[in-house]
Amino acid sequence: MILVFKAGSTREQVTHAEERLREIGLEPHTLLGVERTVIAAVGDERVTTAEELASIPGVEKVLPILAPYKLASRELIPTPTTFTIGGDSEVKPCATRVTFGGTFIPVVAGPCSVEGRSQLLEVAHAVKEAGASALRAGAFKPRTSPYQFQGLAEEGLEYLAEAREATGLPIITEVLTPTDVPLVAKYADCLQIGTRNMQNFLLLRACGQVKNPVLLKRGMSATLEEYLLAAEYVLTGGNKRVMLCERGIRTFENYVRNTFALAAIPALKEKTHLPILADPSHGTGVRSFVPAMTRASVACGADGILIEVHPNPEKALTDGAQTLSIKEFEKLMKECRAIAQAIGRTM
Ligand code: PEP
Ligand code: MN
Repeated sequence: MILVFKAGSTREQVTHAEERLREIGLEPHTLLGVERTVIAAVGDERVTTAEELASIPGVEKVLPILAPYKLASRELIPTPTTFTIGGDSEVKPCATRVTFGGTFIPVVAGPCSVEGRSQLLEVAHAVKEAGASALRAGAFKPRTSPYQFQGLAEEGLEYLAEAREATGLPIITEVLTPTDVPLVAKYADCLQIGTRNMQNFLLLRACGQVKNPVLLKRGMSATLEEYLLAAEYVLTGGNKRVMLCERGIRTFENYVRNTFALAAIPALKEKTHLPILADPSHGTGVRSFVPAMTRASVACGADGILIEVHPNPEKALTDGAQTLSIKEFEKLMKECRAIAQAIGRTM
């Protein structure tokens, strides 16, 4: 439920309401607006009634949040949320700050996996030169087969940190388990939770406890409601910097690796204030389809693009078939800028 405070209500009234909510058994999430303060009271609402909450001093009205996800909902926060990644004193101050959720559309690029120092540095410089805003590569890889390349683990994180030093690009990398969260959080400007872990509730909760922003990918068989409830696990832990990413879903089709659900982008943007990214690389799994679907993602309102780029895709240890070469990426960036401009955005 949303408690809307009267204009001119005092800080003491808000603090009192927060205490009262905790006593009742609900968790307050306070949003201090310019004109009004509102508190989202989340938890099992059977512990109270709207009348009881309306009687708290300073409260003007109590509104229900009809969606099952609360903090992620547009009912609570009607306007898009913007936040920066990079440059946080808690993480690593040297990276450039990049804003997600605004009119600028950041491109997050890099190889699927960190394969080695020179591979990563080469691609980091190249994607930066082409206009990428952040570098993404996996050091911990979630692989279908235990015999496939599993990633360089902490050594990979060290190369990522070095690439950030060299280019200023903030780094995004996947964390696979709750136990790894402190280690990955020490290196990464933003933690990626991958499709296979979208409903790993312990991992979601662990990422809710850290300062690093989170890029949560859509589970390959998740409905939008399940997806937003997964984001809610991170938000309710107090980490408000969550962005979502459509990366294709499992269907009967086999001309693609995944079916890229483009309509999920405008649909999610109606339901949530969180930034929505698009990943046409995993979304198609086919290199020759990636440029068209990237252009389409920009056109349909994505707040960011995630794309796999490698100096030599044919030799990539993971996901080569969907990975662009540096030249292909440079060409695509130019095309996308023109589309962004046509819809009043920049890239
Ligand atoms: C990746 O980003 O390389 C990855 C493993 O993505 P997903 O979780 O979407 O499959
Ligand atoms: Mn990949």
